[in-house]
Amino acid sequence: MAKPKIASDWLCGCAGCHMSLLDIDERIIAVAELADLRSSPITDLKVPDITGVDVGILEGGINNTANEEVALRMRKSCKILVALGDCAVFGGVPAMRNFFTLEETLRRAYIETESTDSEGKIPDDPELMRPTQVRSLQQVVPVDIFVPGCPPDADTIFYVLAELAQGRIPDIKGDKLHWD
Ligand code: SF4
Repeated sequence: MAKPKIASDWLCGCAGCHMSLLDIDERIIAVAELADLRSSPITDLKVPDITGVDVGILEGGINNTANEEVALRMRKSCKILVALGDCAVFGGVPAMRNFFTLEETLRRAYIETESTDSEGKIPDDPELMRPTQVRSLQQVVPVDIFVPGCPPDADTIFYVLAELAQGRIPDIKGDKLHWD
């Protein structure tokens, strides 16, 4: 029987959830023996197979049109979609900007930050001017499995990958369910 195909990608996040995935260390070999690890930010292949994958994993919330396109593409490509980490599950840290106006957010990012010099100015890219709010993954596409945590710890990620690789739906509860 063919191994299940697993793909991942990232949206609006800090890459920490994929770094936590790498923290499974040598257990990645056990996962690779059970599953076919396809496109991801940490493999050479960057786009899910045109014929689809069994499991898609997304880190990060939805902050711009590029995030939205990646989320829609992964949803279309996979049978089971996993929201990995707080940003994907409920917006996380990036969603803190939803409490401020677009003008306040852009001024803080491009003019007022401590590292910005006197030349700081807000870029005029139309994408930046879209009055959007950061959304969780499930506000844009249906999600099948939620793995909260900022980031989820490596043991939890290994459990999730190992279960999915063996055709089982992981049961996220107890010490695997945390929000920090
Ligand atoms: Fe980074 Fe935390 Fe968001 Fe993961 S959940 S992308 S670790 S901020």
